[in-house]
Amino acid sequence: MTDTSGSQRDLGKPLVVLENVNKHFGDLHVLKDINLTVHEGEVVVVIGPSGSGKSTLCRTINRLENYESGNITIGGRELPHEGKELAKLRADVGMVFQSFNLFSHKTILENVTLGPVKVRKMKPDAAKERAMDLLKRVGVDHQAEKYPAQLSGGQQQRVAIARSLAMEPTVMLFDEPTSALDPEMINEVLDVMTRLAQSGMTMIVVTHEMGFARKAADRVVFMADGAIVEENTPEEFFTNPQSARAKDFLAKIL
Ligand code: ADP
Ligand code: MG
Repeated sequence: MTDTSGSQRDLGKPLVVLENVNKHFGDLHVLKDINLTVHEGEVVVVIGPSGSGKSTLCRTINRLENYESGNITIGGRELPHEGKELAKLRADVGMVFQSFNLFSHKTILENVTLGPVKVRKMKPDAAKERAMDLLKRVGVDHQAEKYPAQLSGGQQQRVAIARSLAMEPTVMLFDEPTSALDPEMINEVLDVMTRLAQSGMTMIVVTHEMGFARKAADRVVFMADGAIVEENTPEEFFTNPQSARAKDFLAKIL
């Protein structure tokens, strides 16, 4: 690679590209000249203090938020503003949040088949077969007929991951997917994410789970006050942070 990503693996071409992206909430400059390129198959972990703009970054990539200046492309295409194209973008960019956001009145299986049938126009039988495969992959296939409330938090989050994958996204965004979980359930979700990373999925992951970052990330991006302050391989970032902000942050969490 000729770029500065410091990636350890052979990576594909640029998939998600942000150039000089700026966003405000009123007077608050929440994203400051963000430049970030995520390649096909790359796993980027975003860390930084609370309020540094990590969630806003994810939401902007998925166009859940607007931005005022700069440019964002996914697979070389600009983000659509509305309509069918926007729905397709949302399907192409999978997103898993801290709160699992499953449809509470639908079964686990229905949660995973709904999008593919409605948005991707998949045949119900094919969607069901695929959903069962995915539920098996995340280890919740035995719960397929249950409702979300009958599952543990860790199981629900694994269903949320399966539901996103069912749309065959080109990139997956995770915004603190384990922050709302009881400690004993964190690893079962991280394990699913680690396997997904190893399978070649392009991933942008906001997390404070440094074990995951060390194991699965090609690159760590450190944000503070709305800016990308530093980025490096996990190895370099954790052992040799450059900026005072990163040193200070790591001292608090490690
Ligand atoms: P992080 O995910 O790193 O904790 P966020 O992206 O959630 O940070 O928030 C970045 C900053 O933007 C914070 O100061 C937060 O209070 C502010 N913010 C987030 N969402 C909104 C919103 N919808 N309206 C106004 N301010 C917001
Ligand atoms: Mg956040």
